[in-house]
This record gives sequence, structure tokens and C-alpha cells, in this order.
Amino acid sequence: MSRAGIVTVVGKPNAGKSTLLNRIIGEKLAIVSEKPQSTRDRVVGIRTTDDVQMIVLDTPGLLNPRYELHRAMRTTALRALSDADVIVYLADATERVPVPLAEAADLASPPRTRVVTVLNKVDAIRPVERVELHEALPDARFVSALTGEGVDELLVELAAALPEGPFLYPEDEISTAPVRFFVSELVRETALEQLDEELPYSLACEVEEFREGQTPLYIRTVLYVERESQKRILIGAGGQRIREIGRTARGYLDLWVKVLPNWRKSDRALRRFGYRLHDDPSA
Ligand code: GDP
Ligand code: MG
Repeated sequence: MSRAGIVTVVGKPNAGKSTLLNRIIGEKLAIVSEKPQSTRDRVVGIRTTDDVQMIVLDTPGLLNPRYELHRAMRTTALRALSDADVIVYLADATERVPVPLAEAADLASPPRTRVVTVLNKVDAIRPVERVELHEALPDARFVSALTGEGVDELLVELAAALPEGPFLYPEDEISTAPVRFFVSELVRETALEQLDEELPYSLACEVEEFREGQTPLYIRTVLYVERESQKRILIGAGGQRIREIGRTARGYLDLWVKVLPNWRKSDRALRRFGYRLHDDPSA
């Protein structure tokens, strides 16, 4: 019998979520939600192996202490938590023992779903620290998203936590169209890597045009920010930064930057960028 279900990953910025997701999904990426606007949650990737299909969701911003999430963003993130079959709470092992998820995410009560606490960056701690962490959190798993240590074992455990049932997405649907969303996430991530902390939540990304009938593929992507000053930062002197972002993300990207003033306060814009609104009747 096959298994299929949802793994939601939650963790503070810098815990290593993207690195871990890349490792989990990697080339196993089969399909990613084509239109984040129309899906309930933020699917970041789907990993299909012989008899297991793992749909991975993320919870953007939920654990960022410095940023007050827009209601809609928080609703989306909480939904991803409650929809999960298993939650991965990813923490940086080089920081101290993480506070429980409910506290970190300011939840009224602990999630009902099973939470697997995963301590990442185990390659960067000393054996004695590992022992200490293990004593404090006997059930935590140790991994290194960077080297891959512990990741296969984690995947086995996560798979076992998924319900038995048929795959939820066709396993061979490796079409380019669903890659749209993946592309926009990739561009956003790449941009974030190159920017300081002030910008991240003002940044949204949208794939405007996607021509797959030609080689090389043509993808026009627009990064949206909220203010002119942010646009200048993103473009950089002489367009240097935006070129670098485009180059790092993918060679064939045609990348633009636009200002959409205060989009984080606009319900329409939030919907457009894939956030689910609190009072959405279709929710
Ligand atoms: P995110 O903000 O949670 O998505 O974290 P990232 O995946 O962007 O990682 C943040 C930083 O930690 C990056 O510099 C990564 O290279 C680094 N990192 C991620 N995983 C590991 C790991 O297992 N070991 C070490 N040493 N560094 C890691
Ligand atoms: Mg990340």
C-alpha cells in the first residue's frame, strides 16, 4: 500500500529550511502547485518515490520574531500547520535548545499533529553539545541539511507518519507549467539571500510569462516591492544586483522589479501572491 500526505516545515529564519527542502525535494521534485492563489496552502514541493508521496508545505514568517505577520499570512501559515500529517520543527543546533513550537509560533495550544523536532547543522556542533541537546530533547532528530547526514533516516520516519492511501498527485506529471511557482519561489529566495533583513517581507514574486515551447525556455518574472527605495536596493548600482539575482536563480530568467505600494496591506495583492485571507468565503 502506498502512503501520501503532507509534511509542513516550520522554523526560524536561518534554521536551514530551504537547504533541507532542496535536499528533500531536490531532483525528486515532481510537481509544484501551479497557482498558489488557488491552492489552500503553500506547496513547496512534492517528493514521490516508489510508494511514498510527500507533499511539503512551508509556513513563511510564522517564527520570525521581528515581523508582525499580516492576518492573512498568519492564517495561511496556521492552516499549513493544521493540515499537516506531520510537522517538522526545524531548529539550528548551534543555537541553544529551541523553545517548544507552540511557544515559538505563539499558538494557543500545541498542534494536534505530531511534531518532529529536527536539529539541523549537526555538522557544526561538537560531540559534547550533541550530547547536551540529546539530553534536553531526547526525541529530537539530528541532521545536517548541508552534508545530508541523518536526512535519509528522517525521511523514513516522516514517510511512516503519513497515512496509507493513493498518491494525491500524478507521479509522472513532470510538466513545465507547474514549475512556475517553483521558479517564483526560487527567485524570491535568491533575492533574499542577497539582501539585508529589512526587505524580505516586502518582497513578492510573480511569473508573468512562461513560454515553454521554445529553447531555451523563456520566463519573465517580476519581483514586487513596496517602495521606490526598496526597488533601488533591489536593482543595485547599475543594475548589478538584479543581474546577479537573475544569474544565480537561472540563466534564462528575464527579471524585473516593480513597486506595488503597501501590497502587504492589500487583500487583493495578498490573494494574488498566494496568501489565504482570514475572512475568505472560499476558505
Ligand atoms: P532558512 O532561512 O531556514 O531557509 O535557512 P537556509 O536554508 O537559507 O540556511 C541558512 C544558512 O544556514 C545558510 O547559510 C546555509 O548554508 C546554512 N545551513 C543550512 N543547513 C546547514 C547545515 O546543515 N550545516 C551548516 N553548517 N550550515 C547549514
Ligand atoms: Mg529560506
